[in-house]
Amino acid sequence: MSMYLPPEFEVVRSAERCVNCRLCERECSFLVHTYDKKTGRMRADSAKCVNCHRCVCMCPTHALKVVKSDDAYRPNANWSMQTMHEIYKQAESGGILLSSMGNPNPQPVFWDRLLINASQVTNPPIDPLREPMETRLWLGKRTARIERDAQGRLKNTLAPQLRLEVPVLFSAMSYGSISYNAHEALARAAEELGTYYNTGEGGLHRDFYRYGGNTIVQVASGRFGVFKEYLERAAAIEIKMGQGAKPGIGGHLPGAKITEDVSETRMIPQGADAISPAPHHDIYSIEDLRQLVISLKEATNYQKPVIVKVAAVHNAAAIASGIARSGADMIAIDGYRGGTGAAPTRIRDNVGIPIELALAQIDQRLREEGIRDEVSLIAGGSVRSSADVVKAIALGADACYIGTAALLALGCHLCRSCHTGNCNWGIATQRPELVKRLDPETGYRRLVNLVTAWKHEIQEMMGGMGINSVEALRGNRLMLRGVGMTDRELSLLGVRYAGENM
Ligand code: SF4
Ligand code: SF4
Repeated sequence: MSMYLPPEFEVVRSAERCVNCRLCERECSFLVHTYDKKTGRMRADSAKCVNCHRCVCMCPTHALKVVKSDDAYRPNANWSMQTMHEIYKQAESGGILLSSMGNPNPQPVFWDRLLINASQVTNPPIDPLREPMETRLWLGKRTARIERDAQGRLKNTLAPQLRLEVPVLFSAMSYGSISYNAHEALARAAEELGTYYNTGEGGLHRDFYRYGGNTIVQVASGRFGVFKEYLERAAAIEIKMGQGAKPGIGGHLPGAKITEDVSETRMIPQGADAISPAPHHDIYSIEDLRQLVISLKEATNYQKPVIVKVAAVHNAAAIASGIARSGADMIAIDGYRGGTGAAPTRIRDNVGIPIELALAQIDQRLREEGIRDEVSLIAGGSVRSSADVVKAIALGADACYIGTAALLALGCHLCRSCHTGNCNWGIATQRPELVKRLDPETGYRRLVNLVTAWKHEIQEMMGGMGINSVEALRGNRLMLRGVGMTDRELSLLGVRYAGENM
């Protein structure tokens, strides 16, 4: 630990309540707590604490709390404590700063500046407890016109689609970045909820083949774990071109996380860093992307829909227009607040644009070009609640990916230490003694509870608007009004200001 770097947090132990059971010592993978045999008392090294709250939650006598250190520098509006600490760290290491989870900086969250409409007097609300309220939807290409032969049989060849019972999917999280038990919980929950989880770029563990009908497999630039059976087992294939937390760069899973099982699933050597390149080396244009889309469809007999995932960047709408013409069935757009298991801090916090603006612009552009029905849109990158889902759908999404919210349901405390591989909650780790802390049975139940609760809330909000299906909400921006936004922001979102009439 650097002599220039004071502890960020302080572990406070109540001497009155602590019974010296040493549970915190056993629970902390960052080795904060130790037992001092001489004094017969527990000690804490606050400098090692990442504030994951494991010890605080597990302590049987509630003797612990972790507080932000009140150690102060001379006030300086330009050089914040965080900026100074980052410089100390880089002066020590000579390397890039690494972090995990999403951008924590206080940039505007447009979800919080959007308000949802409700019916009053002149148009009736719908009571979801008494009347049908449809949250089922299909993702994929839509047929512009249904044609039938003389016998009334369908003449169209319909593109393969994904059926969802709720407009929420679990976003890409690879085996390696998260644990086997976390993957199992996500897969089981997806199956029970009638939705999908996503392998990320880590390959598909054979134990999870049985969840194939609810699995989206990813083909990323490193092509880890990609082979014919992997594609065939899936319900859909996602080409990852970019990720909201780290647009324009590749991925890096440290060798310490490449255990025997992970290496087998990824088809790479054990203990070797898994580095996926920034670009796909066979894609430098929409035409090249189209080649891969068609190749993946060809390899799976045109039975699997193909998703193309991109990070939300400045020209997202033009890129989406190209993707919609590439033969892909869905576009996943990932905003700059999206989570990750590991990302360079500077990239995570400074690159990309908010999902709300990118989504609105993409939906708008595809409509203007008359190709909106060529693709479904999945929005992700810090979707935090059912209200965010409703707002995203009203802005033009068909469904939303959730990642961080799903990890929180599994017990994540957002300590942003996933890249260390020492997750005390058994999620972002491959250490067997930590992995077993996450019971997949409990985890899957909690995920099912979360999404079921959101489904009820989505139904209530739609009912309040007098809308009885997710399909009818899609792109219905009249159901939104903005507060605390500039005219430019409102115009980019295609939303009126609160108080403005139709
Ligand atoms: S877990 Fe709580 S009671 Fe046990 S040693 Fe740690 S602080 Fe004390
Ligand atoms: S997954 Fe684990 S390490 Fe990562 S932020 Fe959550 S609690 Fe911390």
